[in-house]
Amino acid sequence: MCNEINNSSNFIKNIIIEDLNSGKHDKIVTRFPPEPNGYLHIGHAKSIVLNSGLAKEFKGKFNLRFDDTNPIKEDTEYVESIKEDVKWLGGNWDEIFFASNYFDTMYEKALLLIKKGLAYVCDLNADEIRQYRGSLTEPGKESPYRNRTVEENLELFERMRQGEFKDGEKVLRAKIDMVSPNINMRDPIIYRIAHTEHHNTKDKWCIYPMYDFAHPIEDAIEGITHSICTLEFEDHRPLYDWVVRECEMESVPRQIEFARLNMTNTVMSKRKLKQLVDEKVVDGWDDPRMPTICGLRRRGYTKEAIRNFCTAIGVSKANSLVDSQMLEYFIREDLQTKAPAAMAVLRPLKLVITNYEEGKTEMLEIENHAKDETKGKRLVPFSRELYIEREDFMEVPVKKYFRLFPGNEVRLKGAYFVKCTEVIKDDKGEVVEIHCTYDKETKSGSGFTGRKVKGTIHWVDAKTAKKAEFRLFEPLILDDEEGNEGKNFLDQINPDSLNILEGFVEKTAIEDAKPEDKFQFIRNGFFTVDSKYTTTEKLVFNRVVSLKSSFKLMK
Ligand code: ATP
Ligand code: MG
Repeated sequence: MCNEINNSSNFIKNIIIEDLNSGKHDKIVTRFPPEPNGYLHIGHAKSIVLNSGLAKEFKGKFNLRFDDTNPIKEDTEYVESIKEDVKWLGGNWDEIFFASNYFDTMYEKALLLIKKGLAYVCDLNADEIRQYRGSLTEPGKESPYRNRTVEENLELFERMRQGEFKDGEKVLRAKIDMVSPNINMRDPIIYRIAHTEHHNTKDKWCIYPMYDFAHPIEDAIEGITHSICTLEFEDHRPLYDWVVRECEMESVPRQIEFARLNMTNTVMSKRKLKQLVDEKVVDGWDDPRMPTICGLRRRGYTKEAIRNFCTAIGVSKANSLVDSQMLEYFIREDLQTKAPAAMAVLRPLKLVITNYEEGKTEMLEIENHAKDETKGKRLVPFSRELYIEREDFMEVPVKKYFRLFPGNEVRLKGAYFVKCTEVIKDDKGEVVEIHCTYDKETKSGSGFTGRKVKGTIHWVDAKTAKKAEFRLFEPLILDDEEGNEGKNFLDQINPDSLNILEGFVEKTAIEDAKPEDKFQFIRNGFFTVDSKYTTTEKLVFNRVVSLKSSFKLMK
């Protein structure tokens, strides 16, 4: 069984245990704070599993908070998809919040900073601010507007809010230290003008808080005790703490950074994923080749597999690149036990058993799971005309080919031995049909021991099998050893990432199949019923993953 792997210990847990033991907190509060500017991906899953898992383990609270302070890229479509994905993943939140509901408080806090002489309205444009900021080796230079009086700042900030200025004409900056070795502390912008409607607050505001100012306030308002974010924010922590302190927030959250998930053959950024959708490289955010939660789900991933993967990769302070085969390992593990076996032929070749009675159909008992007898058996129709895989026949066999070729005998899975007697070709010389004879004595389960065959192949009954489309996938992004960091990912798109085949699937197993149902099509892989293209007339299957891999999980 693929039970949830228990989180082993990690450095974040140790911090929490210390904070609980020392009495700093008696209950922890964590949150997952996505910006609703795209769909969630597998990297977000890592954060969801971590944050919700910690709250659960330590009997604390877990919030879902939309960090929706930038109206330009945000949309309610994304809000809805994020809720759906977090829910599906089992990241059960205690409360749901929108940062935009705190705009009033944030505005009050900005006024407080101005009154304390810790914020000022600056007229420098974006380029000038960048120039004045200095670099890692050079100190910054003070803005000529830095010493405006409190009254002047209050008046100008009010006029910013009233909409008197254009976007970019003025900003509000924290007055900290232009020569700080930490560039984030060199008078960062905390409010900017954007005459853009917000998905939640509509046209109430034309000034919006910047992330570094908004985020600590959001955390403090919600009483978040441990604010877990990715490593890029490590250098922002002094500013985070400055905001909490100077805004005189009652509750003091602690920011803790961990390494984000990076994976081979995968782009992991909403911006890039959106580009793939907008440029129609894929058929939407939920394309089965996408590393989005909804894409993985449509591909046939289960939430258990994703959660186990997220737990197994662990939490660390060092960036690394995870092999995408590791994710496949976990879905294989999960489906191995869950998905019933069935037979499907992806590239059909007609096989006629010339000595089998015409018009007759018999029902053969075939097990539903290769290794688990408790899954029982089903009755599969068998008759004179079948389909087998094209690759299970070779007119001129190569060395060590044990499947069908003229004169050779194989076992049809769960049925009889058949021997190839004739090959039928079309005008172009292509094999279109093969003729066989069968041996009645060799029925599976009959105890026949007369002779042995070296190959067993699967098949479907031509008369009753259902036509189906099979979608096979290869990685969407091709990369080398170093991964795709720093390269233009659009140049690395695999032109052969989708292969659509028309074939057949046995009637019995899929009779009541619904979207998202999963099967192990023997010898072909794990498949799921596609939720987008399947209709009452046509079944479409996505291959989740092949059956085998050379990948080994390091324990
Ligand atoms: P993207 O660049 O993909 O848009 P983001 O970090 O800007 O990612 P947010 O919506 O701001 O996306 O992220 C919400 C939460 O998910 C944050 O706490 C962030 O740290 C976490 N997160 C995002 N990407 C990853 C990742 N690859 N691995 C782990 N956590 C991640
Ligand atoms: Mg972001």
